[in-house]
Amino acid sequence: MSCTETLPDLDMFTQEEISVAADLLDSVAAMSADSSGVSRPAWSRKETEVLDHLTARAEAEGLAVWSDAVDNRVFSLPEDQGKPDYTLIGSHVDSVPVGGNFDGLAGVIAGLICLIHQRRKGTGFSRPVRVIAMRGEESAWFGPCYTASRALTGGLGADALAAKHKSDGRTLADHMADVGVDLGPVRAGTPLMDLTEIREYLELHIEQGPLLLGDDRAAAVVTGIRGNIRLKDIVARGEAGHSGAVPREYRRDPVMATAQLLSAMDALWADEVSEGTDLVMTTGMIGTDPTHHAMARIPESVSFSFEVRSQSPETLSRVEETFRDKVRAISDRTGVAFDLPDPIRNAPAALDEDVQRGLLDAMEHAGQKRYAMPSGGGHDAAVFANAGVRAGMVFVRSRGGSHNPAESMAPADMMAGASIFLAHITAND
Ligand SMILES: [Zn+2]
Repeated sequence: MSCTETLPDLDMFTQEEISVAADLLDSVAAMSADSSGVSRPAWSRKETEVLDHLTARAEAEGLAVWSDAVDNRVFSLPEDQGKPDYTLIGSHVDSVPVGGNFDGLAGVIAGLICLIHQRRKGTGFSRPVRVIAMRGEESAWFGPCYTASRALTGGLGADALAAKHKSDGRTLADHMADVGVDLGPVRAGTPLMDLTEIREYLELHIEQGPLLLGDDRAAAVVTGIRGNIRLKDIVARGEAGHSGAVPREYRRDPVMATAQLLSAMDALWADEVSEGTDLVMTTGMIGTDPTHHAMARIPESVSFSFEVRSQSPETLSRVEETFRDKVRAISDRTGVAFDLPDPIRNAPAALDEDVQRGLLDAMEHAGQKRYAMPSGGGHDAAVFANAGVRAGMVFVRSRGGSHNPAESMAPADMMAGASIFLAHITAND
């Protein structure tokens, strides 16, 4: 990790605009503060309050603001409202529970500050630009992710709409109806916006990984977005017993069987990575039943999650197949049964090469060295890309990980990313 961090050159924006952006970040953090960090639940009243707050600030700057079919907020210069062939800059305003302030929000504010800059300058854009602040991107609340962008592009299916909220048990459809969404067209799977009118979709996001910090860069252009296959509630079922009295050959221990499965997958991962395959895998949740478990008891069951991510759809399928083979083999050998849920699948997204080139040129124009990297996390940009919209992304340096209160980002780094967008959307002016 670098100690001598180079701050970006922010000549494109005025000091006042940089303060407006920092103030927007702070004010949204204050209105969504939790016991630590922030909580902005997907499709909640808090999320609406944040959108209303951004709306008020944008209107005070003289921007046009309107709600789309799922009550996301859309912003533009007044003269660009309703014009087709626009660049769409967007990200999400929801957060995970007790999360960080910058995941999602930074992308919305970076877009807004480009509009505010151009509005204050009074010159307009030669090609229309819209900024979209979206709801419901995080999977933490209902299970499915990217729910607003999937609804907009006609890809929010019945399974996702029936997914239940982690706390109140009501469905995603119920929560969407609460904020006034007409679910008929969403259920019909018709796109809720004319995707052919979007010239390109751009998203700025914090990196959520260590590469930019390690390389002392403020920002990067993203080359592609990993897809994933997720099995959330796998249950391995064996037989309970006394830890001292049952010899090995009599046991059906689900924890040991799960350990075999995970270490076999870890060995496969190491092999794949040594051959240059893009692959990560994680078991983020694992546990025996706390109402029954004890130090001296062989547990009857263990629940765990398994997630694989890769930029390659073939790799995702191959690893899933191997996972299922190993489950069968270990189950036969140990007598432990594995209940596998239906996986949630999110396809990898190729970001548009022309847009990438344009953003790299803009990076240079904004006084930054060209730098590109893939995205490990999934983003709304993947949904637009997979719906046929030319999409591009910029990452900005972040620290403290992500999806937790320690997540942090220097506003100057966000402005470095915004400079790339501003240089890109004004390239022909
Ligand atoms: Zn995000």
